Amino acid sequence: MKLVDFHMHTTHSDGTLTPTELLRQCKEKNLACVSVTDHDTLSSFEEAESEAKRLGIELIPGVEISAVFEPGTLHILGYFLDRKNRELMACLESIQEARRSRNPQIVEKLQCEGVDISLEEVTEEAFAGAGALHEKQIGRPHFAKVLVKKGVVKSIQEAFNQYLGKGRPAYVDKRRVTSKEAIRIIQAAGGVASVAHPKQMRLEEAALEKEIACFKEEGLGGIEVYNSCQHFKENELYLKLAGRFDLVATGGSDFHGANKPGVKLGFLGENVHLGYEMVDKLRARIKKLGKT
Ligand code: AMP
Ligand code: ZN
Ligand code: FE
Ligand code: FE
Repeated sequence: MKLVDFHMHTTHSDGTLTPTELLRQCKEKNLACVSVTDHDTLSSFEEAESEAKRLGIELIPGVEISAVFEPGTLHILGYFLDRKNRELMACLESIQEARRSRNPQIVEKLQCEGVDISLEEVTEEAFAGAGALHEKQIGRPHFAKVLVKKGVVKSIQEAFNQYLGKGRPAYVDKRRVTSKEAIRIIQAAGGVASVAHPKQMRLEEAALEKEIACFKEEGLGGIEVYNSCQHFKENELYLKLAGRFDLVATGGSDFHGANKPGVKLGFLGENVHLGYEMVDKLRARIKKLGKT
């Protein structure tokens, strides 16, 4: 069986491996086809592609876009994207820009809380982990690490609970697109959209079904039935929804390297083995969506 993993992160977002290191690990795990899905950026693709070619791994251009949603988290995965598509690249660039302008605001809020911290310290922390000169995303996990190092809090979790989490004093929301916008832009760039880890939307079955129906109207092509954060009992429900709404059942480990130590590359859940058939189904879906 040709194994696939369609959800993983590099140092270009919040993972700890460079694209080259990540692809080498994919090879060790015997993965035949993968998609690197950094948050709101495709900047890792070039490096990943040259290593993938060298190793004989098929690499599909992918991204994970954060969309507006309450009460949980909504991430939309996009696959088979055309990196020359101007609208997609401009949209991702504007999200990155919003992120850059958010960071000084978080610093200011922390300072108001009496925490001695500077943007330089956070930037240094982010680049120390990256070990390479590229467009590095700086986000709340880096703030959290600095707070721990300074002894302001004891753990990353405490940093989020006390300062950085939603509703806490140093929380600043980031610009997000709507699900409709994300799905449309992915499609316009020749791709197909799949809703990532539906578990994280934190909805009961009936409410989830309603949302998925709505996304389907907006052009959704897949649902991430298999993700290492989901239990096989939950997978059953998502598989049922895939059938009901005619969505391709996709899957990925959501590997972040040392930032999520429990997650193994290529591991999509207990007894789950996702083969190349999924890739064919996604390709077929793009053709079909293009005709309607
Ligand atoms: P950002 O993109 O800068 O808003 O940071 C989002 C990242 O922060 C997520 O990918 C998580 O890794 C982490 N994160 C968000 N909320 C929490 C939380 N309550 N506890 C621990 N980590 C969190
Ligand atoms: Zn992530
Ligand atoms: Fe996600
Ligand atoms: Fe992810």
